[in-house]
Amino acid sequence: MTDIQIAQSVTPKPIKKIAARLSIPKDSLEYYGNDKAKIPLSLIDETALKQSNLILVTAITPTPAGEGKTTTCIGLGDALNYLKKKAVVVIREPSLGPVFGIKGGAAGGGWSQVIPMVDINLHFTGDFHAIEKANNLLSALIENNIQSKTRNLGIDPRTVTWKRCMDMNDRGLRNIIAALGGKAGGIPRETGFNITAASEIMAILCMASNLEDLKERCGAIYIGDTWEGNAVYAKDLHANNAMAVLLKDAIKPNLVQTLEGNPAIIHGGPFANIAQGTNSIIATKMGMSLSDYTITEAGFGADLGAEKFMNIKCRTAGISPKTIVLVTTLRALKYHGGKPLKEITQEDVEAVKKGLPNLERHISSLQSFGIPIVVSLNAFKTDTEAEMKVITDHCKKGGIPVALSYGWEKGGKGCVDLAEKVIKAANSCTDTFQATYSLADSITTKIEKICKTIYGAANVELSTKANLQLRKYESMGYGKLPICMAKTEKSFSDDEKRLGRPEHFDIHIREFEIATGAGFIIPIAGNILRMPGLPATPAAENITIDGSGLIEGLF
Ligand code: ADP
Ligand code: MG
Repeated sequence: MTDIQIAQSVTPKPIKKIAARLSIPKDSLEYYGNDKAKIPLSLIDETALKQSNLILVTAITPTPAGEGKTTTCIGLGDALNYLKKKAVVVIREPSLGPVFGIKGGAAGGGWSQVIPMVDINLHFTGDFHAIEKANNLLSALIENNIQSKTRNLGIDPRTVTWKRCMDMNDRGLRNIIAALGGKAGGIPRETGFNITAASEIMAILCMASNLEDLKERCGAIYIGDTWEGNAVYAKDLHANNAMAVLLKDAIKPNLVQTLEGNPAIIHGGPFANIAQGTNSIIATKMGMSLSDYTITEAGFGADLGAEKFMNIKCRTAGISPKTIVLVTTLRALKYHGGKPLKEITQEDVEAVKKGLPNLERHISSLQSFGIPIVVSLNAFKTDTEAEMKVITDHCKKGGIPVALSYGWEKGGKGCVDLAEKVIKAANSCTDTFQATYSLADSITTKIEKICKTIYGAANVELSTKANLQLRKYESMGYGKLPICMAKTEKSFSDDEKRLGRPEHFDIHIREFEIATGAGFIIPIAGNILRMPGLPATPAAENITIDGSGLIEGLF
């Protein structure tokens, strides 16, 4: 069965019943049909959430197919519920770009999925649309101000870095000339579109603690400079209040359920390449307020996802995970062991062994946070016992708890071993995490600490452009912001061809971007696209709906 066939074979329970499991009063929900609802922010309980066990699911360096973090999150959540624990899964909302681009869902897989799967993957509760509108309202206000004779702030149109956004992979909008059409059309200038998931508004929504904070962050967005070279912010255009109005519902987390009828909260979807790559702080705190175990995910491998999760998200939110689950697959280890992508489903014990240094490096990087780790081997049907034994033996030798997880094949029951090991690890965690760097460190020191401690790099090199930008940001007063690295997810290094555990490498920072509203500095190591294109054969070509409304080909 395909993921969509499995998802459509289960009828969702009324969302009221799911809410009751979390003791949410049913009249406090805002219903979006029968199986989706928004949860009011008033249910965040800063005292209660401190008692909850936050579990982060991360992964080794992934293959292009993904190693099963979302699938493991959902399987683990179902397993904890199966063991009678009050547990909730908190994950990101999918972006339409990948949905119509590369086949492969963002709502889990096999028997570990969230439903209604089709809605979640399409328009859901409209959060992405609202984010897009708030983003584009600011664009319209900028354009209008440049045009205005009476209220002109003197914005130099050539310096405007703020772009429009749309949630679609449309390469044709990456770079455009806007404001054509003569005098009434404005002043023509070069600009472009970001995909909504890579927009700063998405990052802001996921960093905000409440509506007031959201408003303030929107106001703090840097949009460009005046002709005199002074920075212009969204608040100078009086844009932030109206932007927050457009986001008044999008800021509330969405409640849905897993295939097994357990609660799941889905909220926000910032990309992990250019942003923090994890669901909103609000959703995580909501999950923690309402349950004893909150299972969440951070995008890409642990070098990017877990690092940003800790140093940006957890530090800002004042929360700390009790256990980190490191998802590992034999196919990824074989790939890191030198086996070509096309052959990674074939048995090869030697390749698994050769791939182990990648797992080892992730374990030692994660150990720097001082939080217990459990390795979860996400089992595929093609895995053999001899191959699996390589991993379990290796972890046992190193004293790291390891579980074989069959969430994809069996749902919650397939992850009971993992759940039991997670409970034990979380019980043993008595301390909060140690950050990789202090916010008071200089920007270069922060970057060096990430590159050396987490990636295992020898040195960091900044281009002349990057050095100049750095000085500018420091003089603007942004030196104390956390760092949001933009690096390939395919390697610890900035060269995607260096698989396994590269050594003796430098990280090259080409340039910086800054997200003054979201509150981080983005060093760019490599080519990062904020507006992807579709692949040669887009998934969209195979997606269809019949007369009765049945959808096929989504995943
Ligand atoms: P990630 O969150 O790490 O990107 P996902 O959980 O989304 O990974 O899984 C990526 C893809 O792999 C999905 O299409 C999912 O259905 C599939 N997948 C995950 N685990 C398994 C498994 N054990 N067997 C087969 N397919 C799997
Ligand atoms: Mg995922």
